[in-house]
Amino acid sequence: MSEELFKNVISHAKEYGFVFQSSEVYDGLAAVYDYGQNGVELKKNLREYWWKSMVQLHENIVGVDAAIFMHPKVWKASGHVDGFNDPMIDNKDSKKRYRADVLIEEYQEKYRVKNQKEITKAKKRFGDAFDEAQFVATNPNIKRNNAKIEEIDARLKEGLESGELHKIKELIEELGIACPVSGSKNWTEVRQFNLMYSTQMSATDGESQIYLRPETAQGIFVNYLNVQKTGRMRLPFGIAQTGKAFRNEIVARQFIMRMKEFEQMEMQFFVQPGEEMKWYAYWKEHRLKWHKNLGIDDSKYRYHDHVKLAHYANAAVDIEYEFPFGFKEVEGIHSRTDFDLKQHEEYTGKKLRYFDNERNESYVPYVVETSIGLDRMFLVLLTNSLQEEDLGDGKSRTVLRLPAALAPNQCAILPVVKKDGLSEVAREIYNKLRIDFNCFYEEKDAIGKRYRRQDAIGTPICITVDHQTKEDNTVTIRFRDSMEQKRVAIDELEGIISKEVSMKALLKGLL
Ligand code: ATP
Repeated sequence: MSEELFKNVISHAKEYGFVFQSSEVYDGLAAVYDYGQNGVELKKNLREYWWKSMVQLHENIVGVDAAIFMHPKVWKASGHVDGFNDPMIDNKDSKKRYRADVLIEEYQEKYRVKNQKEITKAKKRFGDAFDEAQFVATNPNIKRNNAKIEEIDARLKEGLESGELHKIKELIEELGIACPVSGSKNWTEVRQFNLMYSTQMSATDGESQIYLRPETAQGIFVNYLNVQKTGRMRLPFGIAQTGKAFRNEIVARQFIMRMKEFEQMEMQFFVQPGEEMKWYAYWKEHRLKWHKNLGIDDSKYRYHDHVKLAHYANAAVDIEYEFPFGFKEVEGIHSRTDFDLKQHEEYTGKKLRYFDNERNESYVPYVVETSIGLDRMFLVLLTNSLQEEDLGDGKSRTVLRLPAALAPNQCAILPVVKKDGLSEVAREIYNKLRIDFNCFYEEKDAIGKRYRRQDAIGTPICITVDHQTKEDNTVTIRFRDSMEQKRVAIDELEGIISKEVSMKALLKGLL
């Protein structure tokens, strides 16, 4: 069922011009995607919702737009050259490459599925009297499976943390994991594989290797002092940025969930040392509020605290959304300490300090980061909004219940027929409204069919022009969600649409 839903999301995204595979006419490029005519609008609106919530609604947050190319030493200092790796293993027969940790995690998943089957069976057997927690704690099969999962976890963690990758290969062999393509267990050694893409830049003394940024955050850190000084910023303050990031993800799957080229929306919040946990708590709560403000059901979100912290962090949490394939990270909130700025001080030999007038001393600020993937959030919206609605009498409709302020088109203007001068009247309305809104104009096909098409791309309001319009200057407006229709004067349209699709109203929900 969930797999079915996800397949529908992918095909809907293509059929209605939201997302296409990159270079599709050349049979596509794996894990790279293009946004179509509707996708680009939805993505832009989502970015705007994020940007305004950060920059416009916080007096102490400003934005930057740093270049994708950066000095190569940036990535040495940040730890990405040496440490931004995934453990890879190749199958010698199929020549396919896999992430060793993912192969192991998928193997563990089989035990989870087995447990779920036991639970479903027992639920049926015991009916209302079923106590799931007690069953899970006492059923011998489930206990055995959980112990196995934990043992594998511990061994995987040990192999990764110690860097003794042969232990991970031994684990794969011991578990009898076979290549899903060739079915063979003929594996190479496990090797670390860096996720950064590199390219060449000509310099006066020859060519030098540079990287395509794997995160936007470093563009903020290296500009920290520029912004602080020119903007006369006082702590605490934040710098926000949206932009492309690149990662050579080998196991790229699940549509726009894991891409090789994607867009991040990141904000680094600079604070006094010692105050980071207070701000970490603030951003953890505030960011979840941002998600829920989009009208997404509470039960679809959860926090996932990191047990194992990255070398630069002293606290980290993911905001996860329940996709059809399970709860997955959409955003990360990390307390990054003074790690990055200190590293850049060390590698540049320059001071990246803040002079605190009140304390009369200078120090390197601490940083709390919020980092969300724009594409992943786009997928949350599509997945959450796409509904097949039963209309009774064997009829149904496909409707994309996007938050109205983010929909690609805010309204559609539809003359019932082309003739009798209705097109002209409709175009007049279109020309008036398009200054303020993204309007869609269409005069072909039966009106019902046109409504369905607008439902499928999430247009909140349809405006229908008919013969009565010519007599009394009124039109029918139809609301996407309720399908309610009412007659209103043309002069009222601007006010009604403004209210329905207001970004201002959406942002107010955050105050
Ligand atoms: P994951 O564990 O899923 O690989 P991550 O922990 O590496 O993600 P971060 O480095 O914290 O991710 O990046 C911040 C955000 O950027 C993520 O929460 C996610 O929304 C997004 N993101 C990261 N990698 C990708 C990708 N390959 N494709 C699309 N979005 C991504």
